Amino acid sequence: MGLSKTIWANPSEFLRIQQPVDPVMFFAPSVLQATARRFLDGFPGLVTYAVKSNPDEMVIQNLVAAGISGFDVASPAEIELIARLAPSAAMHYNNPVRARHEIGYAVSMGVRSYSVDSHSELAKLIEMVPAAGREISVRFKLPVNGAAYNFGAKFGATEEVAAALLARVAEAGFIPSLTFHPGTQCTDPMAWDAYLRAAGRICARAGVKAARLNTGGGFPSHRLWGEVPELDAIFALIGRVADEVFEGAPPALVCEPGRALVAESFTLAARVKALRDDTHVFLNDGTYGSLDELPITGIIDRIAVVAPDGNRRRAAPRPRVIFGPTCDSVDRLPGEVALPGDLAEGDYVVVSGMGAYSTATNTRFNGFGALAIATVMSLG
Ligand SMILES: *Cc1c(COP(=O)(O)O)cnc(C)c1O
Repeated sequence: MGLSKTIWANPSEFLRIQQPVDPVMFFAPSVLQATARRFLDGFPGLVTYAVKSNPDEMVIQNLVAAGISGFDVASPAEIELIARLAPSAAMHYNNPVRARHEIGYAVSMGVRSYSVDSHSELAKLIEMVPAAGREISVRFKLPVNGAAYNFGAKFGATEEVAAALLARVAEAGFIPSLTFHPGTQCTDPMAWDAYLRAAGRICARAGVKAARLNTGGGFPSHRLWGEVPELDAIFALIGRVADEVFEGAPPALVCEPGRALVAESFTLAARVKALRDDTHVFLNDGTYGSLDELPITGIIDRIAVVAPDGNRRRAAPRPRVIFGPTCDSVDRLPGEVALPGDLAEGDYVVVSGMGAYSTATNTRFNGFGALAIATVMSLG
């Protein structure tokens, strides 16, 4: 990925002057820092960042500058990244399955917080991590809906197993905590309600008061014009229900958003390579590129079309099928997407809210995917 050192006023200025033939991600540090402050001011506990959603060094540096002091890391490479860019930050190794060499690396790097969802993985941690002052958070799951993509299919213990694990963690001398993830792009605040109540039941069943309760990531980003996420309502609900469930003395709360922290600070500009017989739009970016998660999490309809002269196309919208550049027929955006009727070859399709799971999962499949990042003052 290329990194431009120039700071541009906004995406339109860049597109007009540079006329890029490859996809460009515009990054606005000011938007990222404002979003971070919104979490820091609104969430009733510690705000950490899930590195996997966008591990770009500029992202980490701007989050640190905004006051983010903890990171959810899932691999030695992410641990190395945070140790280098944010040496005083807390690292929460919340990938509940690790190879022994990965645990050994985390211990050597001073990681003090781990998550677990099985007896076999807990046994590895007990064997390899010195207990004193180290936290182990038991990850539990519920069969609740509300997210675009349920994370419970891979990770999380049932309430019963979670209670047994929590008791074992405490017995082994670690700081016992609980953690969950309601699934990414979770637009239903009641998912958190259900998880917090389950946390109360798990503590009661284990006879152990959790020191901390990590309420996960999963906070929604703004993907559809008509659905503005209500983060403040979710924050308020988490604080209120945690108080109620733990009778005024809840565990210290933690959250670990990825998507909702970073999505809004990046906007993608993909060029129209071809408008095939006035029906199919072929872009130079697609589902093997930065748009890779759209088939799973659904379309982002916050799309503008900018002509090569930097002006917006404004004709009445028409539904279009959008394909990416590769020769694979799954390289298509979900459904049909309304785009201005005067869209033409050479235009830029500009998609807002693209910061999460985009640059991180972009591939070079079929020789495409030369994605550049340009820094802008404003995304407007
Ligand atoms: C991916 C992940 C997150 C971030 O999820 P978002 O939906 O992007 O907020 C947080 N915690 C864990 C353990 C994760 O795996």
